[in-house]
Amino acid sequence: MHKPRIVVAGGGYAGLAAIRVLHGRDEVDILLVDPSPVHQLIPELPTALREGGSVREHTLPFDDLLKDTGVRRREDAVRRVQSAEKRVVLDSGDEIAFDWLIVCAGSTTRWPPIPGLREHAYPFRTALDAQALRDRLAGHHDLMVVVLGGGLTGVELAGELATQHHVRIVEIASRILPEVGPGLARYADRVMRQKGVAISPSAKVRRVETNRLLMDGGDAASYDVLVWTGGIAPPDVAWAGVELDDHGYPVADEWGMVASSVFVAGDTYIVRRRGEVVPQSAQLAEEAGAFVARTILARIKDGQAGPPFDPHFKGLLVALDSHRGVGWVMRKGLAVKGYSARALKGLVFSQYRYRLGASFPDATTDD
Ligand SMILES: Cc1cc2nc3c(=O)[nH]c(=O)nc-3n(C[C@H](O)[C@H](O)[C@H](O)COP(=O)(O)OP(=O)(O)OC[C@H]3O[C@@H](n4cnc5c(N)ncnc54)[C@H](O)[C@@H]3O)c2cc1C
Repeated sequence: MHKPRIVVAGGGYAGLAAIRVLHGRDEVDILLVDPSPVHQLIPELPTALREGGSVREHTLPFDDLLKDTGVRRREDAVRRVQSAEKRVVLDSGDEIAFDWLIVCAGSTTRWPPIPGLREHAYPFRTALDAQALRDRLAGHHDLMVVVLGGGLTGVELAGELATQHHVRIVEIASRILPEVGPGLARYADRVMRQKGVAISPSAKVRRVETNRLLMDGGDAASYDVLVWTGGIAPPDVAWAGVELDDHGYPVADEWGMVASSVFVAGDTYIVRRRGEVVPQSAQLAEEAGAFVARTILARIKDGQAGPPFDPHFKGLLVALDSHRGVGWVMRKGLAVKGYSARALKGLVFSQYRYRLGASFPDATTDD
């Protein structure tokens, strides 16, 4: 009997959540396609920049996780989705046929057209990016590190780097952390300044030169190391037979479906709930991946779709350093700051690892 083949493109938060629902079921054949040999714990990556930290501690090899699960794996990237032919084209040029496809390839760094930016700045989105930045900083102290972008990633990174380097956050908006309310952002601003982080709000970078930034209005700032955390873009996947929005994201229905038998989950697309955009996050990706996998199983079983995707916010937590944080928890947005916020963030990381351990009990944990 032909077992439906489900191809999961991307083994991040969404992809592994889908696989956690699907593996162990005899009725389907699962293939994970990912160019990376490891699952990357991306929200933990800023802590890898800490003195004595390591990027490797924040990655989990797929071979260990998927051991004895029956899930097959291809180390390659999906470059093109041919939805009508039910086929994906890989980086290697190989083609893979699917019965069902889940594209959860995350996102890429968005590079705005600022002259010199791409040439001089380090991105910070993946474990490879974190390793490149760590290698650049290795063996140095007291460098001038300028972080462009004062959102969650920029602030977490600045907080970690401030113990070893001079750090400046340059932010285009009038304050850091647009993801949280003004009171929490003020607290974060105060903590950052106490740690010696300089903050330049309402600063628009016009041009980047070697070791020098030029702003609108004529101001300039010097740097030894420049990091760009200013935004994300859709993954590098070409779509045939799928509608794209103005930013290049595939347009999905309320079940995450973009074409017959083709689904998306995680950062790969923009989720809307009652007309509002739901911010991309690891928790949303995890929920979406599991939802899409259950939807596919239901459709294979009896053709029924079930109710549409209705994500549940659990909150947002930003680490300011190893012992302080800010954020909010629960749907109604209970504000938390200081030690409790940082402790909760640590708990969220541990719970995720625990869920992976529970879903993949045969995973090897030896180094
Ligand atoms: C520094 C930083 C800190 C963050 N902190 C938080 C936080 O505290 N809380 C939170 O909720 N969110 C946080 N986020 C956001 C969160 O990491 C993302 O929303 C989440 O990782 C999205 O999950 P995903 O599965 O869509 O993509 P990812 O986790 O990025 O996984 C994508 C996977 O797809 C693979 N891939 C890429 N291209 C292809 C391709 N063409 N074909 C096949 N596979 C491909 C990649 O190798 C990767 O394994 C943070 C992000 C960053 C950058």
